[in-house]
Amino acid sequence: MNGHKRSLYGAHDATLSRPSLLLATGMAAPPQPGLFSLPVLPLRFVVKRHRASKLHTDLRIEAAGTLLSWAFYPLPSLDPAKIIHAREVGDHQIDYAMSERRIPDGSYGAGPVIVWDYGTYRPLAPFDGNEDRAVVEALQGGLLDFWVEGVNLKGGFRLELTPKGWRLTKLEDEFAAVERVRWEDRSVLTGRSLDDVEREYWDELRRLRGE
Ligand code: MN
Repeated sequence: MNGHKRSLYGAHDATLSRPSLLLATGMAAPPQPGLFSLPVLPLRFVVKRHRASKLHTDLRIEAAGTLLSWAFYPLPSLDPAKIIHAREVGDHQIDYAMSERRIPDGSYGAGPVIVWDYGTYRPLAPFDGNEDRAVVEALQGGLLDFWVEGVNLKGGFRLELTPKGWRLTKLEDEFAAVERVRWEDRSVLTGRSLDDVEREYWDELRRLRGE
């Protein structure tokens, strides 16, 4: 494969985009020199279901070499009238984006995690330069409209910072659905439920102990 000089979502110079943002934001360590010649790939997102002390959803979107993250209780919705109040949580490493596991007791967030959705996204507002920077600047301004191409989620969404905190809403478009979509609370990777992940974890522990 020869290197793409254009991303899927807009023309920009792959040799300039990510390093300049990384340096500008200080959100990640400077990349290795070899990374400057890598093709620009679409930004990714992942939605996890996580049953820790309470069942919740973790939305993580890639920008500037990390996963910016929000947590909220319900599943996402395609209904533009549904407002989901979200809490911004710490960035997560991209390496763990697709991990599905049972976080052991005694660790933060102990409990099962499944990948409920994943895919790519792009900011909707016109921008100069690169997508990473557009995303970071939009969020710093308290409003990001973005288009997602996931397995479950499709279309435009809005993350907005209000005096009461962040909220996630569906934008009006061809994927908006007023009637409630009956999402399955299952992994789009493996079809497993949270209970499945929980049960497999304890089965494996018992097997390792020779029980
Ligand atoms: Mn979580």
